[in-house]
Amino acid sequence: MIKKILIANRGEIALRILRACKEMGVPSVAVHSRVDRDLMHVRLADESVCIGGNQPSESYLNIPAIIAAAEVTNAEGIHPGYGFLAENADFAEQVERSGFTFIGPTSQVIRLMGNKVSAIEAMRKAGVPTVPGSDGPLTNNQDRSLAIARKIGYPVIIKAASGGGGRGMRVVRAESELINAISLTRSEAAAAFGDDTVYLEKFLDRPRHVEVQVVADEHGNVIHLGDRDCSMQRRHQKVIEEAPAPNIDETARQTVFDACVKACHEIGYRGAGTFEFLYQDGEYFFIEMNTRIQVEHPVTEMITGVNLVKEQIRVASGLPLSVKQEDISFKGHAIECRINAEDPETFIPSPGRVEQFHAPGGMGVRVDSHLYSGYVVPPFYDSLVAKLICHSEDRNAALNRVKNALEEMVIDGIKTNIPLHQKLARDEGFRNLQFNIHHLENLLQQEQD
Ligand code: ADP
Repeated sequence: MIKKILIANRGEIALRILRACKEMGVPSVAVHSRVDRDLMHVRLADESVCIGGNQPSESYLNIPAIIAAAEVTNAEGIHPGYGFLAENADFAEQVERSGFTFIGPTSQVIRLMGNKVSAIEAMRKAGVPTVPGSDGPLTNNQDRSLAIARKIGYPVIIKAASGGGGRGMRVVRAESELINAISLTRSEAAAAFGDDTVYLEKFLDRPRHVEVQVVADEHGNVIHLGDRDCSMQRRHQKVIEEAPAPNIDETARQTVFDACVKACHEIGYRGAGTFEFLYQDGEYFFIEMNTRIQVEHPVTEMITGVNLVKEQIRVASGLPLSVKQEDISFKGHAIECRINAEDPETFIPSPGRVEQFHAPGGMGVRVDSHLYSGYVVPPFYDSLVAKLICHSEDRNAALNRVKNALEEMVIDGIKTNIPLHQKLARDEGFRNLQFNIHHLENLLQQEQD
């Protein structure tokens, strides 16, 4: 087993990783920015190192500072969590080159999947169904782009090959807008991701977002842990996730599970990963792969009983997975609400002091959060402050549990999106499975009208 793990992240996921380290008896090192010295996991870790200023570039994105912290504390493994450097192939490479273990796939695989164009190409080769599109980057040849879009049919979506976090995408509904949209997306992508490569695919009008969780070790074992539905989104960002994905054609589902496992073998995947798909009319279309632990991993943990972060640590230690495919069964239904420090109507971030924090509890209720009464949410980072995960025997029971838990939850002093979640837990469309990726935005739009 890895002898000591440095946690290169903050907030709820840093605490989540710390808990796994403690359960496995692995000593931990917390690294943090100046303002983050009072974070829950910093207090609980065996050691902590302040690695720089409050701006992410000075600390959580500061590769030399993180590697230096691993050196001075004699850490062996580095867990990147999600966000920050988690999908940065250069970071993974430098970690390995400096003699540490990166808790994730190899840098080559991260690089392959980090570019959406090469990821789609690799998936097509492996037999994973993809969205009809440009099959490669768009060139400066305008006639070629117009011809591709005409062949696919409008609406189409222009996407940045290096995009992420719901940014770098533009929907085009008419041919007259195409050329301008390509150049706008190109310049935005260059500014945001340092790469102006863009590609084009069919814009699906009413898909659901369905993703498949996999985990693989270095001994040739690859398993899937079923699927999740993450269709409740605002600005391409997930708000609620659930497992299993409800109402899916069973034959198509098994085929896609098998294809994901096969693809992992083909690309030499290691660790936890997620294949993201759009699902419409019983068909799957691959959009991208996330080569890290995801925010919504707990819903899968709740229905399978597999601790995904512990599996990541096992695999990085060179051990085989603790479970085989035939050991995996799915029990009940789990739903996660992402609780953000933001205004529930304007969505403007709401940092500040949490005067009172009370987590809900009871059977099947899990709260992953670094909050405590008196904690000050800094303005520098992502606004996710808690994840409420409810598990029960079926979807309706899980939804009722969510509704009750949200009523119990108290976060005073800052604004949160709890009222939005309360609305969604009662929403007929969501409850009755009448939804797609546009449902939440349509709902918000209706309220404004
Ligand atoms: P990111 O890496 O920024 O998360 P993704 O490629 O995963 O970007 O897409 C995020 C979301 O954008 C999807 O969940 C979906 O809501 C929407 N989206 C992406 N591609 C398409 C498409 N071809 N048609 C319709 N919606 C899309």
